[in-house]
This record gives sequence, structure tokens and C-alpha cells, in this order.
Amino acid sequence: MAAKTAQDETTTDLHACTCSQFATADGQTTGCTATTKRLFAPGHDAKLKSFLIRMGADGAEVIRTVDGIASPADALTHAQKFAFGHMVIAGVALAGEKARKKAERLEAKAAAKAEGRTARPKQPKKVTAKVGRATFTGRMDGDHFVYEVKGKERRTLKFQAV
Ligand SMILES: [Zn+2]
Repeated sequence: MAAKTAQDETTTDLHACTCSQFATADGQTTGCTATTKRLFAPGHDAKLKSFLIRMGADGAEVIRTVDGIASPADALTHAQKFAFGHMVIAGVALAGEKARKKAERLEAKAAAKAEGRTARPKQPKKVTAKVGRATFTGRMDGDHFVYEVKGKERRTLKFQAV
């Protein structure tokens, strides 16, 4: 094949960006409408890479359609045909790890919530103090010692914590 002239480079052989060939059965795509003379429009290898990582993490089947021929496969199988394939494998593994950690966090959160529901309402800290000659167990309210005598609440500043 003869070498292309500079003019040919800029005017010929435009085709749809490779990342637009990929879609899931439920219609998710990279949203690409670009055309390019290369395999990918600028930056679209990254676009496809993140798309395949996302679908790989979801375990979604990805259909690549080239010249009207659809080839369904998992995201990793598609990714292996590209230079960035290993990055997709790493990304999916990382996403799996992230998803697992997220699930663990949510689980811990739910457990903490359940625990909070069953826990008793917060009680004021009990304080034992001597008032005069008697010793009472009550609570502090600011500087006051609050205690009960025969069901009646009393408060005093004259007390001695024991
Ligand atoms: Zn694209």
C-alpha cells in the first residue's frame, strides 16, 4: 500500500470511534458519537476502559458490534483485545474490592444502628454524695447535686461527693 499523503491523513478514512461499538444488552454505552481515523477518538480509549471496568464490576455482558456483527462477551474478554486490557482487569478487581468494602461498611453501619435501637436511653451519670449526715445517690445538674428524698426531688449546693 502506498504511503498516504498528508492530505489523505486529514480527509480520509473517518470511521466511528471504536468505543461506540460497545453496549450492554440493556442499552448502556459510552455515549460516544465521535468519528476518528484512529482506533479511538482522543481520550476514548480511557472512556472505553472505564466503561468496561464498570460493566466488568457489574458482571454485565458487553456486546461489541463491528460491521453489523454482534459479539457478546464479558467485559474482560473484550478488554483483552486492547492495550489497556490489564488495566481493566485490575480495575474490575479493585472495583470488586471496593464493592466488598462498601458492603462491609454498610453492614457495620446497619449493625450499629440496630444496636443503637436496642440500647437504653442515655442515663445521667449517677453521683453519690453526702448531704448533711446522710448519703444520697443522685445526679449533678450544673453545680447542684440533685437527689430524692421520699420521692421528692431536692437540689443542693451543699454536698460532698463521696
Ligand atoms: Zn469513543
